[in-house]
Amino acid sequence: MILCGNPHAGYLARRAEIDAAVLRVLNKGWYILGQEVASLESEFAAWVGADYGIGVGSGTEALHLALTAVGVGPRDEVITVSHTAVATVAAIEMLGARPVLVDIEPDYFTMDPVKLAAVINSRTKAIVPVHLYGQPADMDPIVDIARERGIVVVEDCAQSHGAEYRGRRTGSIGLIGCFSFYPTKNLGALGDGGMVVTSDAALAGKIRALREYGWTERYVSHLAGWNSRLDELQAAIVRAKLAHLDADNASRQRLAATYDMELPRSELKLPPRRSGCSHVFHLYVGRSHRRDALQAHLKDREIGALVHYPIPVHLQPAYLGRLAKPGSLPETERAAREVLSLPLYPELTGAQQSAVIEAVREFTGLKS
Ligand SMILES: *Cc1c(COP(=O)(O)O)cnc(C)c1O
Repeated sequence: MILCGNPHAGYLARRAEIDAAVLRVLNKGWYILGQEVASLESEFAAWVGADYGIGVGSGTEALHLALTAVGVGPRDEVITVSHTAVATVAAIEMLGARPVLVDIEPDYFTMDPVKLAAVINSRTKAIVPVHLYGQPADMDPIVDIARERGIVVVEDCAQSHGAEYRGRRTGSIGLIGCFSFYPTKNLGALGDGGMVVTSDAALAGKIRALREYGWTERYVSHLAGWNSRLDELQAAIVRAKLAHLDADNASRQRLAATYDMELPRSELKLPPRRSGCSHVFHLYVGRSHRRDALQAHLKDREIGALVHYPIPVHLQPAYLGRLAKPGSLPETERAAREVLSLPLYPELTGAQQSAVIEAVREFTGLKS
């Protein structure tokens, strides 16, 4: 089976370094919030281009902590998209705030800034653009709108480690950037983890306290926080992989360029790139009117193409009827029907990729 993403291959590719990092932590005997976490926080923040990093329990928790720190609470509105991982919206609801969902730009699958402007009101507290699939959302108009209205921008960078928008890495453009280290992400732990980055010292201090019971010193809670810590084992593993992240992203981009070159005029409409940006291809997502048949055809040939995501958040059973009416986000709903992610991860071999290309061409009726 050719998998869509493959964290085990990622482990095997760096096995010696990861094993050494794990043993280092096991033998040191300090397992939570120690030197590995502190080092990862400064290394990752510098890599993103922000002043501070705060290691946390997951990407969802990164968003939850960031939104708490900027003061989002009950009755506030937070604008994001419905074409995303449920986690983006779940983090907003954890605060009792109301997620306001806007439609996406059909070419890039990210927040449509024109639709954004239309839903801002006096209750809007934050905007959470999602850099979906590894491609930046259109940050200039989003940041402009937010600045005019005094609204904060919290970036969901769970899929965009290293992606650049006009020369700046995602996570360093808004007030706060939120990352996930879920195993399949471009920078993945071998368990759960996440990171908040910001260049605002006061916010960084607040988030650092909130992630551990609101402590500013041991056993003294100046804020009502909770526990969302990153552990030393995961931090050490992520540090080992961070050293190779630029090379891994370049591998993803090379594989994407090969799909682009080999699959024009196929059944799959290929993903356009936003100009002035870099796409780090967390996922390589095309569109097809015959998506389900194409996916089944690939599955018959042992190729695991997946759908990210088959049900927009506003149509999920837990959210249906509460956030947006069915039919009210037409581009989001069309994307859910048409998108298909082809296998892509840094260790995908040329032979495996050729098999994927061959199978898509065969479905299309193209001679290879
Ligand atoms: C993965 C993901 C998250 C959540 O991250 P977790 O670490 O799984 O909590 C949030 N937003 C997006 C867009 C994601 O892809």
